[in-house]
Amino acid sequence: MPVTGVHIWYYYICKREVWLIIHQIAADQDDENIDLGRFFNEQTYQRDKKELSLGHIKVDRVREENGELVVGEVKKSSRFKESARYQLLYYLDTLRQMGVQARGELLFPKERRRERVEWTPEAKQELEKAVADIRRIARLPVPPPPKKISFCKKCAYREYCWAEEN
Ligand code: SF4
Repeated sequence: MPVTGVHIWYYYICKREVWLIIHQIAADQDDENIDLGRFFNEQTYQRDKKELSLGHIKVDRVREENGELVVGEVKKSSRFKESARYQLLYYLDTLRQMGVQARGELLFPKERRRERVEWTPEAKQELEKAVADIRRIARLPVPPPPKKISFCKKCAYREYCWAEEN
């Protein structure tokens, strides 16, 4: 099963959601976030997008600076920064496996912020653990139990996970 940047992004938010997405469980039909692809894109700042697709990875921005390749991931807000950081590190690691060395940049245009992200052996180790865990989660016969987090409020699966509370 190819692990994508989207899987990595959700992995650092909710492991149950990773299982639900991989198993293509339909979310609440009335939910405005029903289209998970659209919802994910809405977390990403769209203006002036210059995407680059390489295999199963899709990066928002690519530029060169002093002979160095810089890969940018543009987000609407820094709220899910840790997830965005690992998503970007995953892209940097995938590029390295293709023989391309690059550094990363998280861009939050609405907050006028940018953060440098560097591939490190420690980040690679962490990503290898995450990928193995995503594959383990995918093989589970049932999803991990729900855990109440702030993301639940925006999640297309909130009815599915918390129906008894609503
Ligand atoms: S509602 Fe909450 S627990 Fe359920 S999948 Fe979404 S984020 Fe995870």
